[in-house]
Amino acid sequence: MATKTIRDLIVKGKTVLVRVDFNVPMKKGEITDDNRIRQALPTINYLIDQGAKVVCFSHLGRIKTEEDKAGKSLAPIANALADHLEKDVTFIAETRGKKLEDAIKALNEGDVLMFENTRFEDIEGSKESKNDPELGKYWASLGDVFVNDAFGTAHRAHASNVGIASNAQESAAGFLLEKEIEYIGNAINNPKRPFIAILGGVKVSDKIGVIRNLLTKADKILIGGGMSYTFLKTQGIEVGKSIVENDKLDLAAELLKEADGKIELPVDFRVTTEFSNEGPVRIAAYTDVNPDEEGLDIGPKTLEKYKAMLNEAQTVVWNGPVGVFEFSNFAHGTRGVCEVLANLKNATTIIGGGDSASAAINFGFENDFSHISTGGGASLEYLEGKELPGLSCLDTI
Ligand code: AMP
Repeated sequence: MATKTIRDLIVKGKTVLVRVDFNVPMKKGEITDDNRIRQALPTINYLIDQGAKVVCFSHLGRIKTEEDKAGKSLAPIANALADHLEKDVTFIAETRGKKLEDAIKALNEGDVLMFENTRFEDIEGSKESKNDPELGKYWASLGDVFVNDAFGTAHRAHASNVGIASNAQESAAGFLLEKEIEYIGNAINNPKRPFIAILGGVKVSDKIGVIRNLLTKADKILIGGGMSYTFLKTQGIEVGKSIVENDKLDLAAELLKEADGKIELPVDFRVTTEFSNEGPVRIAAYTDVNPDEEGLDIGPKTLEKYKAMLNEAQTVVWNGPVGVFEFSNFAHGTRGVCEVLANLKNATTIIGGGDSASAAINFGFENDFSHISTGGGASLEYLEGKELPGLSCLDTI
């Protein structure tokens, strides 16, 4: 059974409720990365072209109190959407009520309306985030059909996805959700081999599920970032002040045993004496980190070692930066991985959202991967092999 997609719907003249993920990074009211808006355009434009009345909505940030609402209105995002679509977008600064209902009723075919941050409903009783049954039912009543295109929240059962889907007459996946599932799903379930995963980020504990699942699917797992040191320390290697999860040493040893040679660890690091961009930087072999030093990036030999392996790959999935890329002195590894992957012309290359995705986009590699996921947590859970409630709630055919 396949999930119904937007192509399976007849939407002309219908009011289509579209859950998008416009949870974009913002600074002082300005959108600093509009990737998620651009990624939602195919679905919205398709619905406009098909003559639907389009109602978009999203969450933005976390809202627990009235004060949290400051700077979290979707008004600037509705403006940005209007710029991208090159047409008017009616913005209603409400999440329910007569004003919103009347504005939806007044829509003509091809019109677009956006309503306010769904998490404004979290102030009393976390109605959105706890999937309050009344709220999902109410939002579903505002339209004829529900389209979920918000991959970034697909790992959560909220009123604005699962709640609406369980009450809507008809529901389907949008183009972005479909694309995310296809790329990530194919990579883990039906990969062209060799299939290599690169896993970085701070902690082993955040990635246990992914490592375990990928050990059964991938041919190699290349480790980088903060989690490297827990794997090294468990083998008795001195890692100085580098980040280590001491309560996960046994687990790291277990994973290495399970991996039976599939896990590759860095052979050198860029180390420094303080967690900043200002300290002295030295390249150290993995056996040569001094007690007062911490590793904040993989070194050049590791990059060469990983490059040689990646050059053979047909499928690559990457989740988590391999160093503290926020500091320019320790961005070499993450940038280097971007470069290596950008040059793999015959491989499917996928970045699983979050920090590695923003690093790749900021370093100018946005168009050099087969797919950059819009969902950090969601892609991680999908890579773990978990069911995504925002996907499984949709109609199947
Ligand atoms: P995650 O959310 O687990 O993917 O972690 C991303 C974060 O890992 C980024 O903010 C990086 O700065 C951080 N990181 C990567 N390598 C290291 C390292 N060697 N030590 C400390 N933090 C790191």
